[in-house]
Amino acid sequence: MRDPLIHVEKQQMLTHAEMRALIVEATGLAVDAPKTVATGCGKRRRYAMTSTVPERVTCLACREHAQHEHTELAEMIEAALRLPGMVPDAERECYAGAARQRRGLAKRFATLNTTVN
Ligand SMILES: [Zn+2]
Repeated sequence: MRDPLIHVEKQQMLTHAEMRALIVEATGLAVDAPKTVATGCGKRRRYAMTSTVPERVTCLACREHAQHEHTELAEMIEAALRLPGMVPDAERECYAGAARQRRGLAKRFATLNTTVN
């Protein structure tokens, strides 16, 4: 059965794309993408049928999953910022930026403005 929807990976904290970028940065070695991944809607789909770009994700359950995950990650980062001594002063702006980025992604996943391309 063909599934035309674009999904998100279930794991939003560190997606395969982010993990591969880190490995390339650390080692200079390219890593193959996985053939299939677990999706936010509880299925297993081809990696090529997933996206990290909110506007490309057409599976509604995956959009809700990603919105929830990014909101939760933003809240975790913001909680760390509120705890005295948890985040070194030199890294506070970096953490705050990461929280803003996650909130922005959550908002984009919550907005139904998908493009088909
Ligand atoms: Zn999905």
